[in-house]
Amino acid sequence: MFDDKELILEAKHITRRFPASGGRKLTACNDVSLKFYKGKTLGLIGESGCGKSTFMRFLVSLDSPDEGQILFKGKDLTKLKGEELRQMRQHIQMVFQDPGSSFNPKMKVRDIICEPLLNFGRIKKSEKDAVARKYLEMVDLSGDFADRFPHNMSGGQRQRVAIARAIALEPEMIVMDEATCALDVSVQKTIIELVCRLQKEKHIAIGFIAHDLGLIQSFAHQVAVMYLGNIVEIIPGENVQKAQHPYTQALLSAIFDTRMDFHKKIESIDSEIPSPLDVPVGCPFQTRCEHCMEICRKESPLLKTIGENHEIACHLFKEEH
Ligand code: SF4
Repeated sequence: MFDDKELILEAKHITRRFPASGGRKLTACNDVSLKFYKGKTLGLIGESGCGKSTFMRFLVSLDSPDEGQILFKGKDLTKLKGEELRQMRQHIQMVFQDPGSSFNPKMKVRDIICEPLLNFGRIKKSEKDAVARKYLEMVDLSGDFADRFPHNMSGGQRQRVAIARAIALEPEMIVMDEATCALDVSVQKTIIELVCRLQKEKHIAIGFIAHDLGLIQSFAHQVAVMYLGNIVEIIPGENVQKAQHPYTQALLSAIFDTRMDFHKKIESIDSEIPSPLDVPVGCPFQTRCEHCMEICRKESPLLKTIGENHEIACHLFKEEH
């Protein structure tokens, strides 16, 4: 399912620590390694503050890690500077949670969509109207939206414009940061359908950040679960129901579904997530894990393969050979 010939971006051993008061360090990402493939979606899931957005910002060069490499078609993005970095940015675009705040409110939709194309000299000013209409229609909006301002549109329409702007540069990868969480559930569904259609047509790799495992498992080809800056499980999207890590299982149990068995106990994680300034030695999930053993308080579990495209960081499991 994941062919290395289709590998487009590989993050290797990404670590980022932020200085905090009292000389302490906040570890936002700890040795994170993930692979992104052409035409496939990797869903990155975890609670607020787990480091998923920090990680994805590295992929679009909005920030740099302290350690590690981000290899995009063989080039390490963390080493690029100046014009080389600017040119590379065309290939990896980002869609934010709230396009309303990332758009210039004084710009019409036509200018919002065409701005990056003009910046990279891809079109002439005289072509703006036709180009904006083409991309608006691609995201199922009427070409007449080109004359609107962002505040004259609904949240779902603004998100479609954000997607139109992102695909206008014909990128090879798009990072979507909680791109649907501010929308009504019915609108969320139509935006996900749109993203899936565009991905099929254009063979784009997508990195999709979310905190809703139920949503992610409906369309992601692989799902990576993050906890306190660590990847604790990577599993094919179609197998998410078979996830084994105690944290992923707790997330699964908490998914609300009208077809769920209401007699079955909902497993909850009783305690609060520890502060990222105070991550315990050993397994980061130990303070909330009902299976915690002595080794979990001493040794940090490394990711090991326990099935096809299935990796887990937990001392309960042995590597499959
Ligand atoms: Fe629980 Fe130990 Fe596995 Fe961590 S390593 S999830 S504490 S069993």
